[in-house]
Amino acid sequence: MGKLTNFKRSLWVFHASGGSCNGCDIEIIAALTPRYDAERFGIKLVGSPRHADVLLVTGAIPRDFADKLKRIYEQMPDPKAVIVVGNCGTSGGVFYDSYNLVGPIDEIIPVDIYVPGCPPRPEAIIDAVVKAWLKLEKLEKELEGKKE
Ligand code: SF4
Repeated sequence: MGKLTNFKRSLWVFHASGGSCNGCDIEIIAALTPRYDAERFGIKLVGSPRHADVLLVTGAIPRDFADKLKRIYEQMPDPKAVIVVGNCGTSGGVFYDSYNLVGPIDEIIPVDIYVPGCPPRPEAIIDAVVKAWLKLEKLEKELEGKKE
């Protein structure tokens, strides 16, 4: 894995749950609790996509959530990264042939990183966020290069 520099010295994450059973969402919360304590690395959940660098999405995305997910994505400032947490968002998982689903998520918004599992472990979610951080640092440098 590459070396992190200091992308704003912290990384703010917005979590959107679309039709999840809550299993993946609990693992995201576990990543923030004292055992894993992702906040010590500057990784922090925020309440608005307008403040977020990274979007974490869970669930197989029911029809009425697709437009909301697009709006959430569009509200995030550039550079930004999207992580799909769990099998449901990646492929539909156990719900793949449900009549009311419009996922997988990469058919609705661009996805950078997939975290497989039902649910994935907190270590895998933190690892995905670090990968997103590396991507954002690269994009940030490219944006700075264009400004000069
Ligand atoms: S991947 Fe598994 S744990 Fe995660 S939302 Fe789907 S069914 Fe629930």
